[in-house]
Amino acid sequence: QASAERIAALDGTVRAFLHTDAERSAAWAADADRRIAEGSQSDLAGIPVAIKDNLCIEGEPCTCASRMLENFRPPYTATAVRRLLDAGAVPIGRTNLDEFAMGSSTENSVAGPTRNPWDPVRAPGGSSGGSAAAVAAGMAPIALGSDTGGSIRQPAAFCGVVGLKPTYGRVSRYGLVAFASSLDQIGPFARTVRGAATVLQTIAGHDPLDSTSLSDPVPDYLTDLDEPLAGLRVGVVADHFDVGLDKEVADAVQGAIETYRSLGAEVVNVTLPHSKYSVATYYLIAPSEASSNLARYDGVHYGHRAKKFGSLEELYERSRGEGFGNEVKRRIMLGTYALSSGYYDAFYLKAMKVRRLIQQDYDAAFEQCDVIASPVTPTTAFAIGELADDPLAMYLSDVYTISANLAGIPALSLPCGFSKGLPIGLQLLGPALSEPKLLRAARMYE
Ligand code: GLN
Repeated sequence: QASAERIAALDGTVRAFLHTDAERSAAWAADADRRIAEGSQSDLAGIPVAIKDNLCIEGEPCTCASRMLENFRPPYTATAVRRLLDAGAVPIGRTNLDEFAMGSSTENSVAGPTRNPWDPVRAPGGSSGGSAAAVAAGMAPIALGSDTGGSIRQPAAFCGVVGLKPTYGRVSRYGLVAFASSLDQIGPFARTVRGAATVLQTIAGHDPLDSTSLSDPVPDYLTDLDEPLAGLRVGVVADHFDVGLDKEVADAVQGAIETYRSLGAEVVNVTLPHSKYSVATYYLIAPSEASSNLARYDGVHYGHRAKKFGSLEELYERSRGEGFGNEVKRRIMLGTYALSSGYYDAFYLKAMKVRRLIQQDYDAAFEQCDVIASPVTPTTAFAIGELADDPLAMYLSDVYTISANLAGIPALSLPCGFSKGLPIGLQLLGPALSEPKLLRAARMYE
């Protein structure tokens, strides 16, 4: 009820939610009340959760903020959402995103942009901007997002909340509408590290419905969370503080690194020599996978179907032409080009090789440190409209987040300061499956 009241009071301005279903949420809440009365031990029983609108819940709209899926109601529920429901959490609404999770500002939405609760002329980041804004504005204590190249961490930084991208495969992607399957991961937003750890504890683990989900047992993320890590080695990459990073963001992140030093951590310099290629690599691989994943939206198998058409060819053309927005079309064209015969070796295959080098850089760096501390974003939240007409500038703003997805490693964003009333995020990255340590390192700073 508190969440519903907060949404009613604030969401006319913030516009974090695409749809809510008060009746269904009330039914889930009643179910949670029953579990609590029966002595449920779940930390999430009765806790409202906002769900990004690219995660399926049986019978609910799942639009991906696209005209293409305006009438799609999936007949099944995503495993991550199913696990939250089984723990008694109460979905309270579906949050706005960049269309099919393609973007960094939540402006590429058929429903219009979400606004940053700290300053409504600014973007909340993206693509999970609705989930980040919902948590920042107190409309939900926790939320789910997806992160393909930073879509949880960057909006978490812009909105001043905690956001975690787990290790690739740690959380089942079943029921997440695919953008770039080798990069996509579902993860939590919360106001605290403990909140994020609690959600991860619930949603992580092998799922027979996702062959890329890892079978490694899920460790206990919560019991030792508040224990400081003795001998923590924090890696710092000099290149991260080079040109292109705003001074106030650099100062806040350097300040956070000094805090680690004062807590007894050892700060070590590490290098990631190939990270300068990560934006270029990502913007070949992600659109390539997207062009393949989005081929299913042809107006026949799935998605919007054009009313008027003469031939089958025209049915496809018109349905896709009408259903997809500009950024999605741009990605499909980029990806189709990179994969086409004659260009495949020069673009896609080359990008795959550089991806491996980026992974190896991280392997080498984590021989010398436990976590790497970096900025999440080069700037604080930019204004709505500021980068909207400059896709390349928008892509470049992903420079700090993208390599974690290419390497498959976990990374989180947590608040580390403010500049002119806008939050700044600190990113911590760790080796694959190091979430227990990553969360504890974050908790130490928090
Ligand atoms: N901003 C990146 C992109 O536009 C990442 C998006 C994401 O993580 N879903 O592709």
